Amino acid sequence: MNNAFPTPTLTRPHDELLLEGVALSSIADRFGTPTYVYSRAALTSAFDAYRKALDGRPALVCYAVKANSNLGILSVFAALGAGFDIVSGGELARVIAAGGAPGKVVFSGVGKTREEMRQALEAGIRCFNVESAAEIERLNDVAGKLGKQAPIALRVNPDVDPKTHPYISTGLKSNKFGVAFDQALDLYRRAAALPHLRISGIACHIGSQLLDPAPMAEAASKVLGLVDRLAAEGIRLDHIDLGGGLGIRYRDETPPAVEDYLGPLLKVFEGRSEELCFEPGRSLVGNAGLLLTRVEYLKPGEEKNFAIVDAAMNDLARPALYDAYHDVVAVSARDIPPQDYDIVGPICESGDFLARQRSLALAEGDLIALLSAGAYGMTMSSNYNTRARAAEVIVDGDTAHLVRQRETVESLYALERTLD
Ligand SMILES: *Cc1c(COP(=O)(O)O)cnc(C)c1O
Repeated sequence: MNNAFPTPTLTRPHDELLLEGVALSSIADRFGTPTYVYSRAALTSAFDAYRKALDGRPALVCYAVKANSNLGILSVFAALGAGFDIVSGGELARVIAAGGAPGKVVFSGVGKTREEMRQALEAGIRCFNVESAAEIERLNDVAGKLGKQAPIALRVNPDVDPKTHPYISTGLKSNKFGVAFDQALDLYRRAAALPHLRISGIACHIGSQLLDPAPMAEAASKVLGLVDRLAAEGIRLDHIDLGGGLGIRYRDETPPAVEDYLGPLLKVFEGRSEELCFEPGRSLVGNAGLLLTRVEYLKPGEEKNFAIVDAAMNDLARPALYDAYHDVVAVSARDIPPQDYDIVGPICESGDFLARQRSLALAEGDLIALLSAGAYGMTMSSNYNTRARAAEVIVDGDTAHLVRQRETVESLYALERTLD
């Protein structure tokens, strides 16, 4: 669909903003605001782009659960045959609850606890992406106590600059992630000598919101060099995991299409038999979702006009955290001159803004949509200011499915106790 909005299944055929076949105003009427709304068709077509680009070669697309871990979202990807990239035992439990196959799960992260290792070994996951020498020892120990062998890949740090935001760049030497490239060989040798580990692959992930395919291809070449050196020592790998990171359009970015992003990288692996694994998060869900919120007050000022809405930084942290940009669209067209607004929430922090200086025609009570909010939106939300978190809805054709009820305030303090 060719479309002015970054959210591909969002259209404005008349005066109504529709996600697939459902009017956003009807979602606000039924479920209230703020509400995250996702499009099943957009999720599916984002996943299919990977499937098509990888057609004809052994490959597994493991959706990075941390981007959006709602069970409804996970169930859509599970039904499409996706694997999952997890970073906690909690995410593993979600994947299993949503019908995902544990045999297609890879477990990333620098701080896996013994309990998380046990849980993942018992579930029978595909691979542990191990990030340190100490983790190798611990995993061997935990697996031994369970009488199991843990499949591992070493997450290496190829030291390429992904040219993205410093908080989401992960493949440089100065990052906490992965093991240094020049230590990898030695660590593989040590792991190969441990009885309760089975060396399965190699992994890397260089950053997020990448807009240029070149750093990924460079990382892939470096990784492949290591794979061949390992093979020369008799350590053979059955898969190569290249992580996630493909960027999306939030504003005027021009990310490559999935096939153009993977193209140079797949060239590097031409003629190789190892299974390729990818861990996309943002590029599968980011543009498939939006945050629907209602204008509570308009507050004109001398220097700025504010539109105070019922969503806040606790619902969508990216603007406050990364100064991130989300497109803002008024749900109903109004016949009044547009004005520049800062879109802000009710939280007692100056950092509580969702968008700045947007030209919009608004009245009190209007609905607006913050676009491209499907990734790192709900999963980074909090209950700051004792705000119940948003509802979540997946639209599928003409049907809106509530996939997470709005939290109740009582549930927020149900685990707490007063003193006598
Ligand atoms: C966050 C993360 C991903 C997903 O990154 P995106 O930029 O959302 O595609 C994949 N793999 C690992 C190890 C991660 O930490």
